[in-house]
Amino acid sequence: MNVVLLGPPGAGKGTQAVRMCEVFGLKHLSSGDILRAERKAHSELGRQAQDYMDRGVLVPDDLILAMMMEHISRCEGGTGFLLDGFPRTVVQARGLDERLGERGWKLDAVVDITVADEEVTKRLTGRWTCPKDGRIYHELFSAPAKAGVCDDCGEALTRRKDDEPDVVGQRLRTYHAETEPVKTYYEDRGVLRTVDGGGTADEVAALTKEVCRT
Ligand code: AMP
Repeated sequence: MNVVLLGPPGAGKGTQAVRMCEVFGLKHLSSGDILRAERKAHSELGRQAQDYMDRGVLVPDDLILAMMMEHISRCEGGTGFLLDGFPRTVVQARGLDERLGERGWKLDAVVDITVADEEVTKRLTGRWTCPKDGRIYHELFSAPAKAGVCDDCGEALTRRKDDEPDVVGQRLRTYHAETEPVKTYYEDRGVLRTVDGGGTADEVAALTKEVCRT
């Protein structure tokens, strides 16, 4: 089974992706995670992407399509893949369809996780990470015992540059302008399913599994 998870930044795509991949044995391919790994490795692609990412705007379609197809191609012979954060434009969605078609592959389900802008803004701007051990906190939902400090190692917590309030605003504007039309693209092809992302992670996981099985 090949699945795409759509939804605004902060909709919980990453959390749901991990659960779905466990349940259905899929390979999780997150474009944001792959880009962050490229940046960490100081690759040419990472260097080209960093300025776009820090401003909360999209990395050019041709770079993203080439990067994602390289990872998707490695799924040959597997039980399928789950795309998280990709495609984010209609050009990417078309490019993906064409390239999958060349291999005789297709998408089985596209799940749109819907969450209101005010809610995702609260989720993203409150998110803090320990740079040492990677533990993630949230100032409202899972705060550390002492504000700004990791419970496990005492390191000062940091916020992803693109989770700063003004960048979050830009990411949401980009989402509405560039990614919302992707929903219509998949709706027209009869593969779009919509899930309310406002519940708990367990509730959203149950709904997501259900729509993928139908
Ligand atoms: P994410 O963690 O998915 O929110 O991605 C972080 C940043 O990576 C985004 O704000 C974009 O700058 C870039 N990015 C991730 N996926 C894509 C994509 N499919 N197309 C263009 N840019 C992307």
